Amino acid sequence: MRAVIACIAVAFLVFGAGCDKGEHKAPESSAATTTAAAAAGFVAVPPEGKKFDPPIKPEQVPPGAWYCDMGTVHWAQMNEGNKTCPVCKMELKQKPAK
Ligand SMILES: [Zn+2]
Repeated sequence: MRAVIACIAVAFLVFGAGCDKGEHKAPESSAATTTAAAAAGFVAVPPEGKKFDPPIKPEQVPPGAWYCDMGTVHWAQMNEGNKTCPVCKMELKQKPAK
């Protein structure tokens, strides 16, 4: 019985190490940053803001970013700024930081 538990533990360790290695490898490539962000479901938002055309979903806005919420999002920025959407002049909302 103990041997079985040991086998499972070893398998778990090997599997875990493999996963960890894969995650560490990703940021080494320059294209990986975009891929990682896309994999997490978030879009890249510059500090000064960015217009999204076609609009994105609110779930794609990274935590802490300010965005224009009209069901879909056509503007997001990381800086608070004047909290006004330059596209439609609506007040921006901040995505709660996790
Ligand atoms: Zn807007």
